[in-house]
Amino acid sequence: MSSFNASSENLSSVPFPIFLENLKAKMQKVYGELANTDYLTTKRGVPNAVLDEIMTLHPLSVIIPKEFGGRGSRIDENLLMTSAAAYESLAFSLTLGINSALFLQPVIKYAKPEVKKTIFEGFINDTKMGGLMITEPNFGSDALNMQTFFTKNESHFKLKGTKHWAGLTGFANYWLLTAREQTENGQLKRDLDFFICDTSDSDQQIVVEEYFDNLGLHHIPYGRNIIDVKIPKIQRLEPKTNGINILLDTLHRSRLQFPAMGLGFIQRMMDEAITHCKQRSIGGKSLVQYDQVQYRLARLQSYFTICSAMCAYSSENAGLENDLSTCGIEANSFKTIATDMMQDAAQSLVQLVGAKAYRYSHIGGRGIIDSRPFQIFEGSNDILYAQISEGILKLMKQSHENNLYKFLKGFRFTKHASSLLKEIINFELSNQLPQRKLIEFGKIISRIVAIEMVLELSESKFRNDLISNATSMLQTEIYGLIGNFKQMEYTNVIEDYKENSSWHNIF
Ligand SMILES: Cc1cc2nc3c(=O)[nH]c(=O)nc-3n(C[C@H](O)[C@H](O)[C@H](O)COP(=O)(O)OP(=O)(O)OC[C@H]3O[C@@H](n4cnc5c(N)ncnc54)[C@H](O)[C@@H]3O)c2cc1C
Repeated sequence: MSSFNASSENLSSVPFPIFLENLKAKMQKVYGELANTDYLTTKRGVPNAVLDEIMTLHPLSVIIPKEFGGRGSRIDENLLMTSAAAYESLAFSLTLGINSALFLQPVIKYAKPEVKKTIFEGFINDTKMGGLMITEPNFGSDALNMQTFFTKNESHFKLKGTKHWAGLTGFANYWLLTAREQTENGQLKRDLDFFICDTSDSDQQIVVEEYFDNLGLHHIPYGRNIIDVKIPKIQRLEPKTNGINILLDTLHRSRLQFPAMGLGFIQRMMDEAITHCKQRSIGGKSLVQYDQVQYRLARLQSYFTICSAMCAYSSENAGLENDLSTCGIEANSFKTIATDMMQDAAQSLVQLVGAKAYRYSHIGGRGIIDSRPFQIFEGSNDILYAQISEGILKLMKQSHENNLYKFLKGFRFTKHASSLLKEIINFELSNQLPQRKLIEFGKIISRIVAIEMVLELSESKFRNDLISNATSMLQTEIYGLIGNFKQMEYTNVIEDYKENSSWHNIF
């Protein structure tokens, strides 16, 4: 341990609140300065100022255990730091998120002790970074069928395949690579494995075949990678049961941390919107005095409260000590609703600011583009909503309960919230729902879970007025969703629609 430059005593001798304040001040300064240049609009890649000024404050030490020189992997501290970063820059917050949730946390939990020391030293002393490669050109949502494969000999694993869209492509020093084992007859096994790839080793070079022109999040490089590497055996993650379990534990922990990014980002959208609406005068009165504007601002504020409530839950339940592989309903609910709220918050800010916000250099305009992929990555929201529903329907079947209210009344994540909604959820639910209804039902459940979290938050010292506004907003949204759910028609696309469908040829 003595070899650490930024020793464990150095890093943890600064109390966390002071560490966080220093980091916040630095992020505000750096991103304030970048906003006054053309950097945010024209440049790609992690800005030098971020590396030289912010990363040298060792934000990732928050994730690293104390015995390896870090601040101790406390989930509450990570959530607070992630939110603070998202307030200044969603791209930077995601950069921290990639490093923490998709690389460091699984490495802390599943890597062999012998490999951890060098990796964590590199993160602390040399501001190294890591990412995760799962997605392949033909296997995104269908990731478990990935074709990247590995074979093994006495000392090494050999991995071959193509991965794309991994955050920090061509930039990260370490990668967690996922692959399936190829058997002697050339078939791929069902399970997958995780391997740490150290790009400083000549056998572990990943070739970036193409860099993508990602629509937003310009500071994070993405692209297509050719994997043809030889990884020492010691660098394989050690599953407790199997690799899919590591995948679920890791992704669920990551999804439970999304509300922290959501909280910082939404708070920024809300603060910008309130400031703008108070200053802007239209038709002889301040914008903030219009009823629709109040509705939008109150909705933004309810998102702030909902994210706070989910963070409070995650701070107590998403720690590394817990196996989260079976926590799909809550993890998927948190991720979907947090990311839907992020996108809606940015849309609302742009609507309120008007044309001035329709620029990439405006935080609202950029916010729409930057927050959009959160609804796609780490599980497309459509699919996650369906999975939430399937999880609930399975539990209802197991408990021989068809009445939605009666079931939700006894379910950990909806038991108090269901009482507020009894009148509209007191109906028999079919076990055979078409997919579009499954997705709508998943939205309903995730919003009921959100009410439950807000009610749990109300038992703390958190402001009551914010709690009741958020509960009321969620109830209204759930009423609308249930209306949709019940009314949905089974219309399908008419693929050969071009015949007799041109308005000027019909007379
Ligand atoms: C900005 C960004 C960052 C990313 N970061 C990473 C990363 O760090 N590491 C990594 O490995 N990957 C990353 N990804 C990849 C991401 O996880 C995938 O894009 C995602 O899993 C979806 O896969 P796909 O793009 O191939 O879409 P597809 O799998 O083709 O799906 C496209 C759409 O089809 C629909 N769909 C798919 N399956 C179904 C179904 N069964 N039922 C109904 N509808 C369905 C959904 O609407 C879905 O959004 C990132 C992507 C983006 C955009």
